[in-house]
Amino acid sequence: MTKFVLIPDATLNYDYRNFPLLDFMPCAPSNVLPEMVYSFLRGSSSPPLPDGRAKYAPYSLRKIEAALLMKYGPGDVVVAHEDHIQDFIKDDTEVIGVTTMDPLGAGPLTMSYSILFETTAHPWVRKEWYRLMDRINTARKGKKAKLVVGGPGVWEFMLFPEELERCGIDYAFQGEADDIAPAIFEQLGDGDVDSSMFYHGYMSFDENFRRAYKDSDRFVTRKPGSPNYPSLEQIPLIQGATMKGMAEVMRGCGVGCDFCEVTLRPSRYYTHEMVRKEVEVNARNGWDNAWLHSDEIFAYKHGRLFEPNEEALTSLLSTVMSIPGIKSANPTHGRISIPAAYPELIGKLSGILRADPSNWIGIQVGVETGSERLAKMHMPNKTLPLRIGSDGSWQDIVWWGVHNFNRHFWRPAFTVQVGQRGEEEEDNWETVEMINRMSNSYVDGRPFEFTITPMQNVPLGLIKNRKFDSLNLSESQLAVYYAAYRHLAKMAARDSTSVASGGLLGRVGTSSLISIGGWLMLKGVERICRRRGLDVEKVKHYGIDEQRSDIKPAPVHA
Ligand code: SF4
Repeated sequence: MTKFVLIPDATLNYDYRNFPLLDFMPCAPSNVLPEMVYSFLRGSSSPPLPDGRAKYAPYSLRKIEAALLMKYGPGDVVVAHEDHIQDFIKDDTEVIGVTTMDPLGAGPLTMSYSILFETTAHPWVRKEWYRLMDRINTARKGKKAKLVVGGPGVWEFMLFPEELERCGIDYAFQGEADDIAPAIFEQLGDGDVDSSMFYHGYMSFDENFRRAYKDSDRFVTRKPGSPNYPSLEQIPLIQGATMKGMAEVMRGCGVGCDFCEVTLRPSRYYTHEMVRKEVEVNARNGWDNAWLHSDEIFAYKHGRLFEPNEEALTSLLSTVMSIPGIKSANPTHGRISIPAAYPELIGKLSGILRADPSNWIGIQVGVETGSERLAKMHMPNKTLPLRIGSDGSWQDIVWWGVHNFNRHFWRPAFTVQVGQRGEEEEDNWETVEMINRMSNSYVDGRPFEFTITPMQNVPLGLIKNRKFDSLNLSESQLAVYYAAYRHLAKMAARDSTSVASGGLLGRVGTSSLISIGGWLMLKGVERICRRRGLDVEKVKHYGIDEQRSDIKPAPVHA
């Protein structure tokens, strides 16, 4: 008997042909990205093991599995491959748990595409979600198993609670559950939630970013006033392999950007031993690259004023790289001010990670804006220990960050926001200027390597009503989209062949589609911009007609 069957959201379980950024592809509207192209580029799903379990699963699902295994045996808890869920969901199954990031397509990138293309057609994430829900509901028909969803995408059901009913979902669980998974699974399976332990409802934030609780029968979260997060000692280690060989390094951040929920969580740093054990699980299951997850790797055991802790970072990466079978590793997220101020540190980390022209270290960086004013308003600490102003302008710090990253073969994948609180037209033009300048810059005779993805901040009310046209993107917001996609098309044409992986045919197919797709995307965005009256020639040249002599010398932190 399998008491608890865990199933990943399908979009978190494809390999996306191991091409950077393709993981974002399911955010595209299904009427813009043809099914044939989507199906090819999403690659393969994690293969099933002979008994129908999934060989790889999203990290968050493996964590829940590990938490349940603290109390139950391996026969009670199964991470099922999607094609085999009917083999595990039986009459005595108590809970089917699904983890998700963006089930309904209300996430920022997905909304950005919907708004840009002025479409209410379902994005691929939502189509895939409905397909999975239908499959699970068919398998559980006539059985008692409760369907429970969790993960970072649960907030979307707060906005669209009617979707819980439509998808046959019994409960949505919000929050970290490492220490309480057995209790919550047992209680949800019984349909009897102990109100002395849990709260029937969910936590959200008011306009001042303070926690606020709202009652709801279908939601369950940790009880207000009780510890809201597990301590480091309460976090179990994964027992099965994860997608992309991901392992966690830390939780929380503490830098304090005013739009970021992560900063409200306590910082918990995994010990090297914990990281080693998780990476070993992945290495034993075939991964030779380790993705080290955090929201800000350079904050790992940081010093005063968020100075990077060189000893902690170098020994952490050395530990990972010494694991038998591991040939490469890269952190998932980091700040741009650290390479700007500490190029020698990045050089040392590159040495440990064996970075070279054939082994670039990919890292996501939330650069958010090119505007000095908005950077100071929303994220004044993001450059610590550097200070915007005395250590250079925000754009100088970003420029030097890319320069030093690239010099040591790190390729940042930036995100920028449009529609931030307090944004004015000039702020977006500064973002255009930043993109153009970097897109036309060189380091050691090589062009700057970075990608940049614009994301739209959409008020929740507009997401709910799906009134995207009422957003009426301004000229300067469209200019940010155009500048970003122009640079992405350039990068796609330059790098698609070298980065594509797999067999010869797969590589040729992937690189051609990426290169042509980047160009087509740019032409599509250009058509939209021209139709709405944007002077694209102005965007192309904005901020680069002057020489780069105005870039200040590299900031060095004393
Ligand atoms: S640095 Fe990143 S993770 Fe940390 S608070 Fe700012 S946006 Fe959030």
